[in-house]
Amino acid sequence: MFNYEKVIEGAKLIIEGIGEDLNREGLIETPDRIARMYQEIFSGLDSDTDEILSKTFTIERDDLVIEKHINFYSMCEHHFLPFYGYAHIAYIPNGKVAGLSKLARTVEILSKKPQLQERLTDEIANAIEKHLNAKGVMVVVEGEHLCMNMRGVKKPGTKTVTTTFRGEFNYNTQLRQEVYTLIK
Ligand SMILES: [Zn+2]
Repeated sequence: MFNYEKVIEGAKLIIEGIGEDLNREGLIETPDRIARMYQEIFSGLDSDTDEILSKTFTIERDDLVIEKHINFYSMCEHHFLPFYGYAHIAYIPNGKVAGLSKLARTVEILSKKPQLQERLTDEIANAIEKHLNAKGVMVVVEGEHLCMNMRGVKKPGTKTVTTTFRGEFNYNTQLRQEVYTLIK
């Protein structure tokens, strides 16, 4: 569970630790602001995708469903700096589909915690596979990482693309190609 007081204490320690003055005007309320912000941007830790995806609708056909350009903001767990971009989800239904907003909500929950882009990609696919029992799932995530842009190798504009395939997408390269064309 989110511990508001502990985050405030931690933020104070960091501010002091970098040699700043905790009592100067601009910083005095910063620990409290950070705690409130962290509660929001790490809210995925206290949420569950099970509930979101448990409501499904029955369908007859098994045509490809794509939800593309789902915007996300996450925090790199190695540096606690943001990474953000788009997730694209494709799946082949197996008798049921999720409400379209539920896919976006799933991405939101899974991105709002200390995360890695590779794991985010994997967790989105797992959630869809598990709840929809889909015949195939393909997830493509494009992200820009501030820990790449503003520190270390400093390569602004670099995009990281991660993919994962489940079921039919594992062996059907034509199907993958169709998705790549449609999400462009
Ligand atoms: Zn990082």
